[in-house]
Amino acid sequence: MTQHVDVVVVGGGQAGLAAGYHLRRQGLDFTVLDADPAPGGSWQHMWDSLHLFSPAEHSSLPGRLMPAQAGMIYPDAGHVVDYLADYEKRYDVPVQHGTRVDAVRRDGVRLLVETDTGTWRARAVISATGSWSRPFLPAVPGRSTFAGRQLHTVHYRCPADFTGQRVVVVGGGNSGAQVAADLALDGQVEVTWVTQRPPRFLPDDIDGRALFDVATARRRALEEGRSDTGGVASLGDIVAVPPVRAARDAGLLVAKPMFARLTADGVRWDDNSHTGVDAVVWCTGFRPALAHLAPLNLRSARGHIPTDGTRALGEPRLHLLGYGDWTGPASATLIGVGRMAREAAAGIAAMVAG
Ligand code: FAD
Repeated sequence: MTQHVDVVVVGGGQAGLAAGYHLRRQGLDFTVLDADPAPGGSWQHMWDSLHLFSPAEHSSLPGRLMPAQAGMIYPDAGHVVDYLADYEKRYDVPVQHGTRVDAVRRDGVRLLVETDTGTWRARAVISATGSWSRPFLPAVPGRSTFAGRQLHTVHYRCPADFTGQRVVVVGGGNSGAQVAADLALDGQVEVTWVTQRPPRFLPDDIDGRALFDVATARRRALEEGRSDTGGVASLGDIVAVPPVRAARDAGLLVAKPMFARLTADGVRWDDNSHTGVDAVVWCTGFRPALAHLAPLNLRSARGHIPTDGTRALGEPRLHLLGYGDWTGPASATLIGVGRMAREAAAGIAAMVAG
């Protein structure tokens, strides 16, 4: 059976919920389809010790401030899951959990949304599927010959899974630094942290709040035709959250340059020396989860879909929300996605009315 709505939102994480909030305010008829059986988006899958890099009040979706977590300045991932589950209920966002969208196709004046539980016809689609389901692994010589354990950040849970082992953590971003710190502070794991270029720590007094302010100042400057004030990347890559700072200050977070290749039982360095390794954790990032949009044939050579704001240039009935700066400044953060969700909902409301 095919169901009809004004808008289908694909993905019910923070971006999908922010879209739902603004679509409701616009008075549109919509549904949110989410592959996960429970609320919380990717936050429900993150590793045990993960904490936000901003305080609760700076990590809120539109309409409802995230409450502080007792005894913690930076809430943990479980607190974010609770906040998102409560948000979904409070604003009565119609999320159909456990429904995976396989394809979005053109179908005359409508878009056809095919799922594993049925088909929807909509006047517009907001894609908000994030990137957690598309972990990226770089092509590294010898990767397939390594006989030890290899896992991506998405499958990392806690140091207890590696007690007594020699672990190489690959990646110079926030995930790499945090996972390396988590393992090193445990004291029961022999950790080697490798990065492609020397890690760049942000100053200790800069957390997510300041990063958001920098991104906002830059957006305003560009919108007002002033010169570029410089983006977040100019400040550094790694937020010195408390565990990262503790590991770094204890001398436990010293990065080595990337190894030359993996061998059957370890890594070989540029000087031909060899280190035995039991496991490699690849903290090497993500790609946007856009496979369901393939039938629309919109992707550029870079793998992104060109957009003006959130609207796809090649398909004005499609909006992309929450994937990163290419879909709006700070749109892949809790505090930043609301503004872009408001723009997308307003654009769709105008299109539907017109
Ligand atoms: P997700 O949370 O990934 O949600 C996408 C949803 O779409 C999921 O529920 C999934 O099941 C569903 N889905 C996917 N494909 C389909 C499909 N085909 N059909 C139906 N449903 C589908 N941001 C901050 O603001 N503060 C932080 O401190 C912070 N720390 C971070 C730490 C880490 C390690 C990471 C990885 C990110 C962090 N972020 C942080 C960034 C950001 O907030 C998250 O990436 C965020 O989860 C993205 O939200 P989303 O809704 O776009 O995607």
